[in-house]
Amino acid sequence: MTAPARTDRGSEELIRAEEPVLAHNYHPLPVVVARAEGAWVEDVEGRRYLDMLAGYSALNFGHRHPALVEAAHRQLDRLTLTSRAFHNDRLAGFAERLAALTGTDMVLPMNTGAEAVESGIKVARKWAYDVKGVPADRATIVVAADNFHGRTTTIVSFSTDETARSGFGPFTPGFRIVPYNDLAAMEAAVDETTAAVLIEPIQGEAGGLIPDDGYLAGVRELTRRKGCLFVADEIQSGLGRTGHTLAVEHESVVPDVVLLGKALGGGIVPVSAVVGSREVLGVLHPGEHGSTFGGNPLAAAVGTAVVELLETGEFQRRAAELGTVLREGLAALVGRGVVGFRARGLWAGVDVDPSLGGGREISERLMREGILVKDTHGSTIRLAPPLTVTAEELAGALGTLEKVLTT
Ligand SMILES: *Cc1c(COP(=O)(O)O)cnc(C)c1O
Repeated sequence: MTAPARTDRGSEELIRAEEPVLAHNYHPLPVVVARAEGAWVEDVEGRRYLDMLAGYSALNFGHRHPALVEAAHRQLDRLTLTSRAFHNDRLAGFAERLAALTGTDMVLPMNTGAEAVESGIKVARKWAYDVKGVPADRATIVVAADNFHGRTTTIVSFSTDETARSGFGPFTPGFRIVPYNDLAAMEAAVDETTAAVLIEPIQGEAGGLIPDDGYLAGVRELTRRKGCLFVADEIQSGLGRTGHTLAVEHESVVPDVVLLGKALGGGIVPVSAVVGSREVLGVLHPGEHGSTFGGNPLAAAVGTAVVELLETGEFQRRAAELGTVLREGLAALVGRGVVGFRARGLWAGVDVDPSLGGGREISERLMREGILVKDTHGSTIRLAPPLTVTAEELAGALGTLEKVLTT
């Protein structure tokens, strides 16, 4: 029996085919992407869409950036995997350049964002016991309400999103949840057992919530004064998105530990990392933590090419400049279908007038007009195109948003 030619199936047929065989843990927009380049994707029928989500910032450099694809191709032809049982010739260069880019000493390479978060939690706890002197198994980590740090059992243990948690207990203890953007509450939650404060510099999943000016600097001051670590989850906010290499640079803050992921893999392979000072990452010894694929040569080659792109500063500059276009465009829509928005760099959470439909409905209407976005909660949509998008493309997308909201 011959299998049907998969490529002969149209979008609707492919969507129907997923239903019985694919776990229903997502509810994608009804678009089936078959190819992509730069900021544009094309579906099975050849319809083109501007990608205004960019894989939640995994595609900061656009789809198939030539330098990244070339780095991947070159590495595919040479060496792809060794495991960390052996050294590989790509890892030292990757770690050196990533540490230099982020102004840190050491790199712990992982694959997915959730793994970087898990690794950051383990490192912070180990630091608390080995360096700070917290009694065994007593370490606490202070986190913010409405956080999004990933989907593992430990990470959903400190989520405040019931959909993400419900049905997955029992949960990992040792976390204290305080309101985001509230330094007094954080101060009250930090005590002698606290290993770290773990926050997102901008809460993406929560709708692009930007804390008040001074909050990140305040977290830095507080954690230093209280003697615990500041761990910044920059998996979505980092690597150019906000107009800086790291979003914490907006307040000239240097955390003890930064978690990176998403864009670090150039939209090609999963690459994540924990970067931080030698005092902190130095607590790990052989055998205490690891990952079969972490730091593999293909990931290191692509990650190095990503760092090379960021070293030019071009993408950070584009995000800052185009961010002005984005903010001005959105400001013009306030009162005309938009009730409010938050934006930094090329990243916005847009609250749409609920009477015009939920975020999902607006996303579907934008899809039919050739713009791909993702809703978050309620009537909020997020806009985060690749940093390679042009000002004209961005203006076009804002024009389409206006059309969808006003006609
Ligand atoms: C996406 C994301 C994660 C999890 O990354 P995965 O690669 O999906 O595991 C963690 N933190 C933040 C802020 C994220 O945006």
